[in-house]
Amino acid sequence: MEPFVHNAAPGRVVFAPGALSQVGAEIERLGCARALILSTPFQKPDAERLAERIGGLAAGVFGDAAMHTPVEVTERAMAAFEASGADCVVALGGGSTIGLGKAIAWRNDAPQVVVATTYAGSEVTDILGQTEGGRKTTLRDPKVRPETVIYDPDLTLGLPVAMSVASGLNAMAHAVEALYAPDTNPVISLMAVEGLRALKSALPMIVETPDNVAARGEALYGSWLCGVVLGSAAMSLHHKLCHTLGGGFDLPHAETHAILLPHTAAYNARAAAAQLAPAAALFGGDLGGGLHDFAASIGAPMALKDLGFSEDYIPSAAGMATENPYANPREVTREGILDLLTHAHSGTRPAPN
Ligand code: NAD
Repeated sequence: MEPFVHNAAPGRVVFAPGALSQVGAEIERLGCARALILSTPFQKPDAERLAERIGGLAAGVFGDAAMHTPVEVTERAMAAFEASGADCVVALGGGSTIGLGKAIAWRNDAPQVVVATTYAGSEVTDILGQTEGGRKTTLRDPKVRPETVIYDPDLTLGLPVAMSVASGLNAMAHAVEALYAPDTNPVISLMAVEGLRALKSALPMIVETPDNVAARGEALYGSWLCGVVLGSAAMSLHHKLCHTLGGGFDLPHAETHAILLPHTAAYNARAAAAQLAPAAALFGGDLGGGLHDFAASIGAPMALKDLGFSEDYIPSAAGMATENPYANPREVTREGILDLLTHAHSGTRPAPN
Protein backbone atom coordinates (compact mmCIF):
# COMPACT_ATOMS: atom_id res chain seq x y z
CA MET A 1 0.00 0.00 0.00
CA GLU A 2 1.40 3.39 -1.06
CA PRO A 3 1.17 6.26 1.46
CA PHE A 4 -1.79 8.55 0.73
CA VAL A 5 -3.85 11.49 1.98
CA HIS A 6 -7.66 11.51 1.71
CA ASN A 7 -9.81 14.59 2.31
CA ALA A 8 -13.47 13.59 2.61
CA ALA A 9 -15.55 16.50 1.35
CA PRO A 10 -18.68 17.43 3.30
CA GLY A 11 -22.07 17.46 1.57
CA ARG A 12 -25.45 15.80 1.75
CA VAL A 13 -26.82 13.69 -1.11
CA VAL A 14 -30.47 12.76 -1.47
CA PHE A 15 -30.91 10.19 -4.24
CA ALA A 16 -34.35 8.87 -5.26
CA PRO A 17 -36.84 8.88 -8.10
CA GLY A 18 -39.27 11.65 -7.15
CA ALA A 19 -36.72 13.35 -4.85
CA LEU A 20 -37.66 16.73 -6.35
CA SER A 21 -40.50 16.67 -3.81
CA GLN A 22 -37.89 17.01 -1.05
CA VAL A 23 -36.53 20.40 -2.14
CA GLY A 24 -38.65 22.29 0.42
CA ALA A 25 -37.60 20.04 3.30
CA GLU A 26 -33.94 20.37 2.27
CA ILE A 27 -34.18 24.18 2.21
CA GLU A 28 -35.61 24.11 5.75
CA ARG A 29 -33.00 21.61 6.86
CA LEU A 30 -30.34 24.21 5.99
CA GLY A 31 -32.15 26.67 8.25
CA CYS A 32 -33.28 28.73 5.26
CA ALA A 33 -36.69 30.10 4.34
CA ARG A 34 -36.49 31.83 0.93
CA ALA A 35 -34.76 30.29 -2.07
CA LEU A 36 -33.93 31.99 -5.35
CA ILE A 37 -34.46 29.22 -7.90
CA LEU A 38 -31.94 29.20 -10.75
CA SER A 39 -32.21 27.68 -14.23
CA THR A 40 -31.29 28.19 -17.85
CA PRO A 41 -33.91 29.79 -20.14
CA PHE A 42 -34.67 26.27 -21.44
CA GLN A 43 -35.44 24.86 -17.98
CA LYS A 44 -37.21 28.00 -16.70
CA PRO A 45 -40.67 26.40 -16.94
CA ASP A 46 -39.39 23.57 -14.68
CA ALA A 47 -37.97 26.14 -12.25
CA GLU A 48 -41.31 27.98 -12.20
CA ARG A 49 -43.16 24.73 -11.48
CA LEU A 50 -40.75 24.05 -8.64
CA ALA A 51 -41.35 27.57 -7.25
CA GLU A 52 -45.09 26.91 -7.30
CA ARG A 53 -44.58 23.58 -5.61
CA ILE A 54 -42.55 24.97 -2.68
CA GLY A 55 -44.82 28.01 -2.29
CA GLY A 56 -43.59 30.48 0.32
CA LEU A 57 -40.11 28.91 0.38
CA ALA A 58 -39.52 30.34 -3.10
CA ALA A 59 -38.25 33.92 -3.26
CA GLY A 60 -38.31 33.97 -7.07
CA VAL A 61 -36.91 32.42 -10.24
CA PHE A 62 -33.82 33.60 -12.14
CA GLY A 63 -33.81 31.81 -15.48
CA ASP A 64 -30.81 33.25 -17.32
CA ALA A 65 -28.02 30.83 -16.37
CA ALA A 66 -25.59 30.37 -19.30
CA MET A 67 -22.66 28.16 -20.26
CA HIS A 68 -19.29 29.03 -18.63
CA THR A 69 -20.84 31.29 -15.95
CA PRO A 70 -20.49 34.79 -17.47
CA VAL A 71 -19.82 37.35 -14.71
CA GLU A 72 -22.38 39.70 -16.26
CA VAL A 73 -25.12 37.08 -15.67
CA THR A 74 -23.89 36.47 -12.12
CA GLU A 75 -24.13 40.20 -11.38
CA ARG A 76 -27.75 40.24 -12.53
CA ALA A 77 -28.47 37.13 -10.47
CA MET A 78 -26.87 38.76 -7.40
CA ALA A 79 -29.17 41.76 -7.86
CA ALA A 80 -32.17 39.42 -8.16
CA PHE A 81 -31.04 37.55 -5.03
CA GLU A 82 -30.86 40.76 -3.01
CA ALA A 83 -34.07 42.26 -4.40
CA SER A 84 -36.03 39.08 -3.65
CA GLY A 85 -34.88 38.82 -0.03
CA ALA A 86 -33.54 35.31 -0.71
CA ASP A 87 -31.40 33.54 1.89
CA CYS A 88 -30.31 30.55 -0.25
CA VAL A 89 -30.31 29.28 -3.83
CA VAL A 90 -31.77 26.21 -5.49
CA ALA A 91 -29.98 25.39 -8.77
CA LEU A 92 -32.14 23.20 -11.00
CA GLY A 93 -30.16 22.01 -14.01
CA GLY A 94 -26.75 21.03 -15.34
CA GLY A 95 -23.27 22.51 -14.98
CA SER A 96 -24.28 25.93 -16.32
CA THR A 97 -27.01 26.49 -13.72
CA ILE A 98 -24.96 24.91 -10.95
CA GLY A 99 -22.07 27.21 -11.90
CA LEU A 100 -24.32 30.23 -11.38
CA GLY A 101 -25.35 28.98 -7.92
CA LYS A 102 -21.68 28.50 -7.02
CA ALA A 103 -20.80 31.97 -8.33
CA ILE A 104 -23.48 33.48 -6.07
CA ALA A 105 -22.28 31.43 -3.08
CA TRP A 106 -18.70 32.49 -3.74
CA ARG A 107 -19.78 36.12 -3.47
CA ASN A 108 -22.25 35.96 -0.57
CA ASP A 109 -21.88 32.49 1.00
CA ALA A 110 -25.52 31.61 0.25
CA PRO A 111 -26.31 27.96 1.08
CA GLN A 112 -27.00 25.91 -2.04
CA VAL A 113 -29.42 23.11 -2.79
CA VAL A 114 -28.66 21.62 -6.21
CA VAL A 115 -31.02 19.48 -8.22
CA ALA A 116 -28.62 18.03 -10.81
CA THR A 117 -30.15 17.12 -14.19
CA THR A 118 -27.08 16.22 -16.29
CA TYR A 119 -24.03 14.03 -15.68
CA ALA A 120 -21.39 16.82 -15.64
CA GLY A 121 -20.64 16.44 -11.91
CA SER A 122 -20.20 20.10 -10.93
CA GLU A 123 -22.68 19.77 -8.03
CA VAL A 124 -20.16 17.92 -5.86
CA THR A 125 -17.00 19.90 -6.59
CA ASP A 126 -15.37 22.97 -5.08
CA ILE A 127 -14.52 24.22 -8.59
CA LEU A 128 -15.96 27.39 -10.11
CA GLY A 129 -15.20 28.45 -13.68
CA GLN A 130 -16.23 31.96 -14.68
CA THR A 131 -15.91 34.01 -17.87
CA GLU A 132 -15.36 37.71 -18.24
CA GLY A 133 -14.28 39.59 -21.35
CA GLY A 134 -14.02 36.28 -23.22
CA ARG A 135 -11.55 34.84 -20.66
CA LYS A 136 -12.39 31.83 -18.52
CA THR A 137 -10.76 31.52 -15.12
CA THR A 138 -11.17 28.66 -12.68
CA LEU A 139 -10.87 28.69 -8.91
CA ARG A 140 -11.21 26.12 -6.16
CA ASP A 141 -12.80 27.20 -2.89
CA PRO A 142 -14.60 25.00 -0.34
CA LYS A 143 -17.32 27.64 0.00
CA VAL A 144 -18.60 27.02 -3.55
CA ARG A 145 -19.28 23.33 -2.88
CA PRO A 146 -23.08 22.94 -2.59
CA GLU A 147 -24.40 21.90 0.83
CA THR A 148 -27.13 19.59 -0.50
CA VAL A 149 -27.43 17.69 -3.76
CA ILE A 150 -30.67 16.09 -4.90
CA TYR A 151 -30.51 13.43 -7.61
CA ASP A 152 -33.90 12.59 -9.07
CA PRO A 153 -33.54 10.20 -12.04
CA ASP A 154 -37.07 11.14 -13.17
CA LEU A 155 -35.76 14.61 -14.08
CA THR A 156 -33.23 13.11 -16.50
CA LEU A 157 -35.76 11.09 -18.51
CA GLY A 158 -36.07 14.03 -20.92
CA LEU A 159 -32.33 14.69 -21.22
CA PRO A 160 -31.90 14.17 -24.98
CA VAL A 161 -29.98 11.00 -25.88
CA ALA A 162 -27.18 12.94 -27.61
CA MET A 163 -26.69 15.11 -24.52
CA SER A 164 -26.90 12.10 -22.22
CA VAL A 165 -24.13 10.38 -24.17
CA ALA A 166 -21.84 13.42 -24.31
CA SER A 167 -22.49 14.33 -20.68
CA GLY A 168 -21.91 10.72 -19.57
CA LEU A 169 -18.56 10.62 -21.36
CA ASN A 170 -17.72 13.99 -19.77
CA ALA A 171 -18.26 12.33 -16.38
CA MET A 172 -16.18 9.30 -17.37
CA ALA A 173 -13.29 11.62 -18.24
CA HIS A 174 -13.21 12.83 -14.62
CA ALA A 175 -12.87 9.23 -13.46
CA VAL A 176 -10.11 8.31 -15.93
CA GLU A 177 -8.04 11.33 -14.91
CA ALA A 178 -8.66 10.74 -11.20
CA LEU A 179 -7.10 7.27 -11.52
CA TYR A 180 -3.69 8.67 -12.47
CA ALA A 181 -3.92 11.98 -10.58
CA PRO A 182 -0.80 12.86 -8.58
CA ASP A 183 -2.99 13.07 -5.46
CA THR A 184 -5.15 10.01 -6.10
CA ASN A 185 -5.70 7.41 -3.38
CA PRO A 186 -7.40 4.01 -3.00
CA VAL A 187 -10.79 5.53 -2.08
CA ILE A 188 -10.76 7.85 -5.11
CA SER A 189 -9.80 4.89 -7.33
CA LEU A 190 -12.69 2.80 -6.00
CA MET A 191 -15.17 5.56 -6.75
CA ALA A 192 -13.65 6.27 -10.16
CA VAL A 193 -13.80 2.65 -11.31
CA GLU A 194 -17.34 2.21 -9.99
CA GLY A 195 -18.38 5.44 -11.72
CA LEU A 196 -16.93 4.17 -15.01
CA ARG A 197 -18.62 0.80 -14.58
CA ALA A 198 -22.02 2.35 -13.86
CA LEU A 199 -21.89 4.70 -16.85
CA LYS A 200 -20.57 2.00 -19.17
CA SER A 201 -23.53 -0.13 -18.15
CA ALA A 202 -26.17 2.64 -18.22
CA LEU A 203 -25.42 4.67 -21.35
CA PRO A 204 -26.13 1.92 -23.92
CA MET A 205 -29.46 1.23 -22.17
CA ILE A 206 -30.35 4.94 -22.28
CA VAL A 207 -29.55 5.05 -26.00
CA GLU A 208 -31.84 2.06 -26.50
CA THR A 209 -34.62 3.24 -24.16
CA PRO A 210 -34.24 6.87 -23.04
CA ASP A 211 -37.05 6.61 -20.49
CA ASN A 212 -35.58 3.58 -18.69
CA VAL A 213 -35.67 4.88 -15.10
CA ALA A 214 -33.32 2.17 -13.80
CA ALA A 215 -30.69 3.05 -16.43
CA ARG A 216 -31.18 6.77 -15.75
CA GLY A 217 -30.64 6.09 -12.05
CA GLU A 218 -27.49 4.10 -12.70
CA ALA A 219 -26.11 6.87 -14.94
CA LEU A 220 -26.84 9.51 -12.32
CA TYR A 221 -25.22 7.34 -9.64
CA GLY A 222 -22.13 6.94 -11.86
CA SER A 223 -21.99 10.64 -12.60
CA TRP A 224 -22.19 11.43 -8.88
CA LEU A 225 -19.12 9.23 -8.25
CA CYS A 226 -17.28 10.76 -11.20
CA GLY A 227 -18.13 14.25 -9.89
CA VAL A 228 -16.85 13.36 -6.43
CA VAL A 229 -13.48 12.27 -7.83
CA LEU A 230 -13.30 15.42 -10.00
CA GLY A 231 -13.71 17.39 -6.78
CA SER A 232 -11.14 15.29 -4.90
CA ALA A 233 -8.22 14.84 -7.29
CA ALA A 234 -6.15 17.06 -9.57
CA MET A 235 -6.99 16.80 -13.27
CA SER A 236 -4.35 16.41 -15.98
CA LEU A 237 -3.86 16.55 -19.76
CA HIS A 238 -7.44 15.71 -20.71
CA HIS A 239 -9.02 18.56 -18.74
CA LYS A 240 -6.28 20.99 -19.79
CA LEU A 241 -6.94 20.19 -23.47
CA CYS A 242 -10.71 20.52 -23.03
CA HIS A 243 -10.28 23.91 -21.33
CA THR A 244 -7.94 25.01 -24.10
CA LEU A 245 -10.32 23.97 -26.88
CA GLY A 246 -13.47 25.13 -25.06
CA GLY A 247 -12.05 28.52 -24.07
CA GLY A 248 -9.81 29.23 -27.07
CA PHE A 249 -11.95 27.81 -29.87
CA ASP A 250 -15.45 28.06 -28.38
CA LEU A 251 -16.15 24.33 -28.61
CA PRO A 252 -19.09 22.85 -26.66
CA HIS A 253 -18.12 21.47 -23.24
CA ALA A 254 -19.49 17.93 -23.00
CA GLU A 255 -18.95 17.05 -26.68
CA THR A 256 -15.31 18.16 -26.54
CA HIS A 257 -14.76 15.93 -23.49
CA ALA A 258 -16.47 13.04 -25.26
CA ILE A 259 -14.32 13.33 -28.39
CA LEU A 260 -10.99 13.77 -26.61
CA LEU A 261 -11.37 11.08 -23.94
CA PRO A 262 -10.24 8.04 -25.99
CA HIS A 263 -7.25 10.02 -27.26
CA THR A 264 -6.08 11.39 -23.92
CA ALA A 265 -6.57 7.96 -22.33
CA ALA A 266 -4.45 6.41 -25.09
CA TYR A 267 -1.79 9.11 -24.65
CA ASN A 268 -1.37 8.20 -20.99
CA ALA A 269 -2.12 4.47 -21.26
CA ARG A 270 1.44 3.22 -21.03
CA ALA A 271 2.79 5.82 -18.60
CA ALA A 272 -0.07 5.15 -16.16
CA ALA A 273 -0.65 1.48 -17.00
CA ALA A 274 -0.83 0.31 -13.39
CA GLN A 275 -3.25 3.04 -12.23
CA LEU A 276 -5.45 2.63 -15.31
CA ALA A 277 -5.50 -1.19 -15.23
CA PRO A 278 -8.98 -1.52 -13.60
CA ALA A 279 -10.42 0.95 -16.14
CA ALA A 280 -8.68 -0.79 -19.05
CA ALA A 281 -10.13 -4.11 -17.86
CA LEU A 282 -13.63 -2.63 -18.21
CA PHE A 283 -12.91 -1.70 -21.83
CA GLY A 284 -11.26 -4.85 -23.13
CA GLY A 285 -7.67 -4.17 -22.05
CA ASP A 286 -6.81 -1.28 -24.38
CA LEU A 287 -8.34 1.77 -22.70
CA GLY A 288 -8.02 4.28 -25.57
CA GLY A 289 -9.24 1.91 -28.27
CA GLY A 290 -11.90 0.45 -25.98
CA LEU A 291 -13.27 3.89 -25.10
CA HIS A 292 -13.28 4.81 -28.81
CA ASP A 293 -15.31 1.70 -29.66
CA PHE A 294 -17.67 2.29 -26.72
CA ALA A 295 -18.22 5.95 -27.70
CA ALA A 296 -18.88 4.94 -31.32
CA SER A 297 -21.34 2.23 -30.23
CA ILE A 298 -23.48 4.77 -28.33
CA GLY A 299 -23.44 7.35 -31.12
CA ALA A 300 -21.14 9.85 -29.40
CA PRO A 301 -19.55 12.68 -31.36
CA MET A 302 -16.20 11.28 -32.51
CA ALA A 303 -14.32 14.00 -34.42
CA LEU A 304 -13.34 17.58 -33.61
CA LYS A 305 -13.87 18.48 -37.26
CA ASP A 306 -17.59 17.81 -36.73
CA LEU A 307 -17.65 20.54 -34.06
CA GLY A 308 -16.27 23.04 -36.60
CA PHE A 309 -12.67 22.74 -35.34
CA SER A 310 -10.51 23.27 -38.42
CA GLU A 311 -7.31 21.29 -39.03
CA ASP A 312 -5.56 24.67 -39.31
CA TYR A 313 -6.19 25.28 -35.60
CA ILE A 314 -4.22 22.21 -34.50
CA PRO A 315 -0.77 23.87 -34.22
CA SER A 316 -2.00 26.82 -32.16
CA ALA A 317 -4.14 24.54 -29.95
CA ALA A 318 -1.11 22.31 -29.36
CA GLY A 319 0.94 25.39 -28.47
CA MET A 320 -1.69 26.57 -25.95
CA ALA A 321 -2.07 23.10 -24.43
CA THR A 322 1.65 22.66 -23.88
CA GLU A 323 2.05 26.06 -22.17
CA ASN A 324 2.02 25.56 -18.38
CA PRO A 325 0.83 21.95 -18.68
CA TYR A 326 -0.93 20.35 -15.70
CA ALA A 327 0.85 17.45 -14.00
CA ASN A 328 0.50 14.42 -16.28
CA PRO A 329 1.80 10.84 -16.14
CA ARG A 330 3.42 11.14 -19.59
CA GLU A 331 5.44 14.18 -20.59
CA VAL A 332 3.28 16.60 -22.54
CA THR A 333 5.23 17.37 -25.72
CA ARG A 334 4.20 19.52 -28.67
CA GLU A 335 4.81 16.60 -31.01
CA GLY A 336 2.69 14.27 -28.88
CA ILE A 337 -0.19 16.74 -28.67
CA LEU A 338 -0.06 17.48 -32.40
CA ASP A 339 -0.45 13.76 -33.03
CA LEU A 340 -3.24 13.43 -30.45
CA LEU A 341 -5.19 16.38 -31.89
CA THR A 342 -4.72 15.13 -35.46
CA HIS A 343 -6.36 11.82 -34.46
CA ALA A 344 -9.11 13.59 -32.50
CA HIS A 345 -9.72 15.97 -35.40
CA SER A 346 -10.49 13.14 -37.79
CA GLY A 347 -11.95 10.76 -35.18
CA THR A 348 -9.61 7.87 -35.94
CA ARG A 349 -9.26 5.04 -33.40
CA PRO A 350 -6.25 5.74 -31.18
CA ALA A 351 -3.54 3.12 -31.49
CA PRO A 352 -2.43 1.29 -28.32
CA ASN A 353 0.83 2.80 -27.08
P1 NAD B 1 -25.61 22.66 -19.32
O1 NAD B 1 -25.87 22.86 -17.88
O2 NAD B 1 -25.06 23.82 -20.09
O3 NAD B 1 -26.96 22.18 -20.01
C1 NAD B 1 -27.10 22.21 -21.43
C2 NAD B 1 -28.57 22.42 -21.78
O4 NAD B 1 -29.35 21.27 -21.41
C3 NAD B 1 -29.21 23.60 -21.05
O5 NAD B 1 -30.08 24.26 -21.91
C4 NAD B 1 -29.97 22.93 -19.94
O6 NAD B 1 -31.04 23.70 -19.47
C5 NAD B 1 -30.44 21.65 -20.61
N1 NAD B 1 -30.71 20.55 -19.68
C6 NAD B 1 -30.05 20.24 -18.54
N2 NAD B 1 -30.59 19.15 -17.97
C7 NAD B 1 -31.62 18.77 -18.75
C8 NAD B 1 -32.57 17.70 -18.68
N3 NAD B 1 -32.53 16.79 -17.70
N4 NAD B 1 -33.49 17.61 -19.64
C9 NAD B 1 -33.52 18.50 -20.67
N5 NAD B 1 -32.64 19.52 -20.79
C10 NAD B 1 -31.70 19.65 -19.84
O7 NAD B 1 -24.66 21.40 -19.61
P2 NAD B 1 -23.59 20.64 -18.70
O8 NAD B 1 -22.79 19.84 -19.64
O9 NAD B 1 -24.25 19.98 -17.56
O10 NAD B 1 -22.71 21.80 -18.09
C11 NAD B 1 -21.65 22.42 -18.80
C12 NAD B 1 -21.06 23.55 -17.97
O11 NAD B 1 -20.72 23.06 -16.68
C13 NAD B 1 -19.78 24.10 -18.54
O12 NAD B 1 -19.79 25.52 -18.39
C14 NAD B 1 -18.70 23.46 -17.69
O13 NAD B 1 -17.51 24.24 -17.66
C15 NAD B 1 -19.38 23.38 -16.36
N6 NAD B 1 -18.84 22.31 -15.48
C16 NAD B 1 -18.29 22.68 -14.30
C17 NAD B 1 -17.79 21.71 -13.43
C18 NAD B 1 -17.21 22.13 -12.12
O14 NAD B 1 -16.85 21.29 -11.30
N7 NAD B 1 -17.11 23.43 -11.85
C19 NAD B 1 -17.86 20.36 -13.77
C20 NAD B 1 -18.43 20.00 -14.98
C21 NAD B 1 -18.94 20.99 -15.83
